[in-house]
Amino acid sequence: MKQLLIASNNFNKIREFKEILANSPFKLLTCADLNAHLDIEETGMTFRENALIKAKAFYDRFRIPTIADDSGLEVIALGNRPGVFSQRYSPSGTDEDNLALLLKEMHGVEDRRAQYVCELVYYQSPETVVFFSGILKGQIMDKPISGNGFGYDPVFYIPSLKKRLSQCRPEEKNAISHRGQAIRQLLDLLRSHS
Ligand code: IMP
Repeated sequence: MKQLLIASNNFNKIREFKEILANSPFKLLTCADLNAHLDIEETGMTFRENALIKAKAFYDRFRIPTIADDSGLEVIALGNRPGVFSQRYSPSGTDEDNLALLLKEMHGVEDRRAQYVCELVYYQSPETVVFFSGILKGQIMDKPISGNGFGYDPVFYIPSLKKRLSQCRPEEKNAISHRGQAIRQLLDLLRSHS
């Protein structure tokens, strides 16, 4: 079975990657499986740059085909912030504080439109690097409802489902999410080459 390394230390992202790739022809690995820890500074100005920085760093260290995503929340009324700074939005960077800051900034704002963006990189080798992306549009609610998911999911409302991502079952979120879209594109490409 071919190995695929997930270049992330984010427990929630790893869980979603594993759920979405559950029936794929890969043996999925994380740093923990390799008894290593790699913390990469995200110095890029775009999701794509950051995804590539992470994937390349993991590939260079372990020489195993690697996937990395950089993702985040873009809020139209905030000029697409927090964007690439979604994880580092509040000073502490915890999901709780990030959410509180978002609700503070959005207090009284009429335009609630937002989107999650995911840029995914498949770094098979330095010669074969492929990018995929996914976007999920929604609206920012003014009070959180916790449940499933992570990050901004407690306030991210999907009009077609009439609920927030935190109220979706994992398979429901993965079927529509920015990350799910990007990973399925990768799977389609790999299937067409096998
Ligand atoms: P990254 O690890 O630098 O890509 O940061 C991703 C950050 O964007 C997360 O820490 C969350 O704050 C936010 N984010 C990305 N995808 C999701 C999602 O599916 N749900 C909730 N928040 C997300």
